[in-house]
Amino acid sequence: MVEKQHTIKQSVSISGTGLHTGQHGTLTFHPAEVNHGIKFRRIDVEGQPIVEAKVANVVDTSRGTTIAQNGVKVYTVEHIMASLRGSGIDNVLIDLNCEEPPILDGSAKIMMNALKEAGVVEQDAERKYLKINKKITYTHPKVGCELTIEPADKFSIDVKVDYKSGVLNVQEAHLHDMSEFEENFAPCRTFVFFQELEMLLKHNLIKGGDLSNAIVFIEKQVSEADLKRVAKLFNKESVAVHEGGILNNVTLYFENEPARHKLLDIVGDLSLLGMPVQGKVTAYKPGHFANTEFVKMIVKEMGI
Ligand SMILES: [Zn+2]
Repeated sequence: MVEKQHTIKQSVSISGTGLHTGQHGTLTFHPAEVNHGIKFRRIDVEGQPIVEAKVANVVDTSRGTTIAQNGVKVYTVEHIMASLRGSGIDNVLIDLNCEEPPILDGSAKIMMNALKEAGVVEQDAERKYLKINKKITYTHPKVGCELTIEPADKFSIDVKVDYKSGVLNVQEAHLHDMSEFEENFAPCRTFVFFQELEMLLKHNLIKGGDLSNAIVFIEKQVSEADLKRVAKLFNKESVAVHEGGILNNVTLYFENEPARHKLLDIVGDLSLLGMPVQGKVTAYKPGHFANTEFVKMIVKEMGI
């Protein structure tokens, strides 16, 4: 069966706060013609420059995947990319009026719902797939991560994370078919470790967090004073540690929500290939640096 390319029926906007910059911004998805692909447009910059969502434009992966073209940046694109792939959308122009898209609830769910409301429509052109014809492996010995893609009839991902942490140890997640994405992966939120959070807060690198857009894991015993300090930074009366080392008012949607979110991130980063990929992905300890290096390797090996 020949699959067709898809776009959205009408424009749709979402507003919110960026996680790292704390800037309030609006994302607007517009329909786009066939073979347009996914492109961002910074409407707050003179000339409204375009930043294409492709791996060659990745400039930073330290706190999410950041892309840039001619010096114009778009931060943290991975959840947007995952929501588009999860919705089966090939062509869309995304207007953004600041550097960093809103983090929303830290998942892809809100964007997928908005795209669904806008309406996903078929276009009069065949969808191109990148069919993997050989095994490609990326490893980073220092970090101990490994990502592999090999030929298969359809796209699937197996993820394993291992943080060697008391609260978040070995977890796995499996996507056998993209039809499982919306329900089982899109709602899964990003997560951080308390120690990491403290560092980010101290260096003023996380301004849009409010305890509802990230799962916070606490590995060690944390003093009351530290909890109070964090509560203050988040503008909360108080925060507490729940069972399983999870901070405050989030309840996990799935026991392995962190591993599922890592899978969501891989779907987003792989979308920087510029077309859906057909192959079986296996990932051990993935992260944005490893994911995007892996995507660059696929581009090189497959000659695209
Ligand atoms: Zn993520």
